[in-house]
Amino acid sequence: MSTPLRHLPVMQNWDCRTCGDCCRRLEGVITDIEKRRIEALDLANDPEVAPKPWFTAAGRGSTNWKLAHRPDGGCVFLTAANHCRLQERFGADVKPFVCRLFPFLLIPAGDHWRVGMRFSCPSAAANHGRPVVDAEKDLVHLSRLLEQHVGRSADSAPPPLPQAGQQLSWPDVCRVVQVLVEIVQDRGDRLERRLRKCLALARVGGKTQFDNLQGDRLSKYLRAVRSAMDAETPREAADLPPPDPMFGGVLFRVLLGIYTRRDRDHHGARSLRRSLGRVVDGWRFARGRGHVPRVNEFLPEIRFEDLEQSRGMLPEMDETLERYYVVKLNSLQFCGPPNFDLPLWAGLESLILTLPMILWLRRAFTDLPSVQAVQQAIQIVDDHFGGDPMLGFPHVQYLQRMMAQRGELEKLVAWYSR
Ligand code: SF4
Repeated sequence: MSTPLRHLPVMQNWDCRTCGDCCRRLEGVITDIEKRRIEALDLANDPEVAPKPWFTAAGRGSTNWKLAHRPDGGCVFLTAANHCRLQERFGADVKPFVCRLFPFLLIPAGDHWRVGMRFSCPSAAANHGRPVVDAEKDLVHLSRLLEQHVGRSADSAPPPLPQAGQQLSWPDVCRVVQVLVEIVQDRGDRLERRLRKCLALARVGGKTQFDNLQGDRLSKYLRAVRSAMDAETPREAADLPPPDPMFGGVLFRVLLGIYTRRDRDHHGARSLRRSLGRVVDGWRFARGRGHVPRVNEFLPEIRFEDLEQSRGMLPEMDETLERYYVVKLNSLQFCGPPNFDLPLWAGLESLILTLPMILWLRRAFTDLPSVQAVQQAIQIVDDHFGGDPMLGFPHVQYLQRMMAQRGELEKLVAWYSR
């Protein structure tokens, strides 16, 4: 019997707008079988297909491949009208699995799959289209294909660790996630306080031994911690001190330099000139004075100093952000394999760090209405979350943990929510 799908994101809509953005940016791995299947198609002399080679090796010694891209960044099978030529001529079944699944992620959670989303897709960020629950049939089909594609069943995946040296069963991981989702959906608070409460819960969770806390005992424990955190978490963002200039300033901006980048020619990004450019931009971010480097095409001319000015948070912005964090939490996209194998608490901290990133970036989009500015910022930041190899580097993860352990994350969340 195949593994069922549960907890589909009920607040989330999506339809493909055929903008072609993913066909310019996706770096998914494809198998040798998929490569041979595509090479066997009658694509010779098709004017819409770029000349060979259509595939590049996924890495030294790897038997897998990646789709090649044209000099302008587009996939070799992307037509002038932004359509996939493979789908146009032969149907969706011949496309590489990674392209068929985007922007969804299917994440095993013991006896079921959960559905995550990449908000780097502009349609997902804007909540455009039909409710995701309408796509359930397609997603069930894709979950079966995924099991064939990776050669193992969903129930063979181990649960993420709460932290190194500790373990929870899948049902207990789901209990913790359920509490986090309930906190984020509790509209009695502004979104920023809900996330500060999640951080407080992570701090207590990180000091807890879970050996004797399972099932109902864990549920009772989580309820008790949740109500204690409700009482202890400062009520207003203004009640928190500003971030420390070093740990919440310089180090935060170093990470901003990674999260806000969006190269136009993503696939030509390995030239020496571009690498040097990244180093210079990184240094300018760390310095945090003068003009912000134009690391994505949406950034206007703006100074770092301008982005430290309070802009206020409209309640409608909370709705957009709530949708983003609920999908990320409910799908378990924030820990384990979808987020560089981070344990549960560290993965939660890395997810919440995206809030000050998003709110910093949205301040730059002065020509957009507030909600659209937040959606644009989510699209850029989520392009990196769980996917940018730089965020998997141990020193970057150490940096994130250090900021969380010093209490800088709460301060950053509060500071950029003003
Ligand atoms: S980025 Fe999203 S909307 Fe655009 S083509 Fe890809 S899936 Fe469709």
